[in-house]
Amino acid sequence: MRFTYVTLFSNLIEGYFQDSILKRAIESGKFEVAYLNPRDYSASKHSKVDDTAVGGGAGMVMTPQPLFDALNTLEKGAYIIFAAPVGKQFTQNDAKRLALKEHIVFVSGRYEGIDERVIESFADEVFSIGDYVLTGGELPSLVMSDAIVRNIDGVLGNSESLEYESFETPLLEAPSFGKPAIYEQMGVPSEYLKGNHSKILALKLAMSECKTKYFRPEQLLKHKIRTSYEK
Ligand code: SAM
Repeated sequence: MRFTYVTLFSNLIEGYFQDSILKRAIESGKFEVAYLNPRDYSASKHSKVDDTAVGGGAGMVMTPQPLFDALNTLEKGAYIIFAAPVGKQFTQNDAKRLALKEHIVFVSGRYEGIDERVIESFADEVFSIGDYVLTGGELPSLVMSDAIVRNIDGVLGNSESLEYESFETPLLEAPSFGKPAIYEQMGVPSEYLKGNHSKILALKLAMSECKTKYFRPEQLLKHKIRTSYEK
């Protein structure tokens, strides 16, 4: 798997791959990272990549020429994703689906965004990471790539950790407790200490349901789930 980041600020992205699981995944050849800077493709004298908007309006827009020329250097088949607040909300299902691609290109906007003709011409998908506006697409691109990489075979040491995670099912993950079992006079649910696996699983399911009902009740409605204490 390869990720290419099309960005004016690759330094904002590079650091993220210099530690922890993602660093190890690169070192073990699970994925590679490359960068394309639209400024390097600008035909203007001062390597300009932005201009005022046609028809007026506040702020600058990333102009088509540098991005067209940068994106035209990619091989056929590269899967191109634009980060934009107007896009479809990125979800865990997208992360799993995209983990099967060979080469994903993330295009980060800056200023007031990217000329729509670039998006129309090159986008395979356009994703938002939430209903708020950030200064640039670098964080959204990183958020999406991190979520995707965790789903590449062999990246996580223990693939079971994916199985029970939030969003793998409509229910959120049950609360976790690290050792020691008692900390500052706070205990953990006593069932966890008794070692009866099926009882622990039943309790975890009940706690997952409670958490989902409290934080994300719309998930239960959407998937028509009746919690075990309602049945
Ligand atoms: N004027 C744009 C609008 O109102 O939709 C916002 C542009 S934003 C300041 C600049 C860039 O940040 C966008 O082109 C996009 O790449 C990125 N961006 C900002 N918020 C985002 C979000 N919630 N999801 C994905 N990308 C985002």
